[in-house]
Amino acid sequence: MDCLFCKIVEGTIPSNKVLENDHVVVFHDIHPAAPTHVLIVPKKHIASMNDVTAEDMLLIGEIHMAAQEAANGLGVQQSGYRLINNCGQDGEQTVHHLHYHLLGGTRLGALTS
Ligand code: 5GP
Ligand code: ZN
Repeated sequence: MDCLFCKIVEGTIPSNKVLENDHVVVFHDIHPAAPTHVLIVPKKHIASMNDVTAEDMLLIGEIHMAAQEAANGLGVQQSGYRLINNCGQDGEQTVHHLHYHLLGGTRLGALTS
């Protein structure tokens, strides 16, 4: 399958990984939008949030636990951070393998003002 994040998961495309377990990898975004910007990616290929099924419920929990662990390891757990999933065209999803952005290291601003 021609999927960038599957290739990063397999290691055929290099990445700067901060965490890896049986279910999830976490690596630095190549174009960081904040002082801390990593991507939490399930090893299983799921194209988008719309493709998550009941079968993936434990995996979604693993993603949240990995986000928490990565935030702790990167030193932003106490100061706070934001976890974002972009889905589909209006969500500006560009890589069609489910992933969550973890952003932190600065005040990120309110979503609405
Ligand atoms: P999306 O826009 O789909 O929510 O997020 C995709 C993210 O993947 C973007 O923030 C982009 O910078 C990041 N990205 C794209 N290609 C690569 C790559 O080859 N390596 C890494 N580490 N990040 C990438
Ligand atoms: Zn994939």
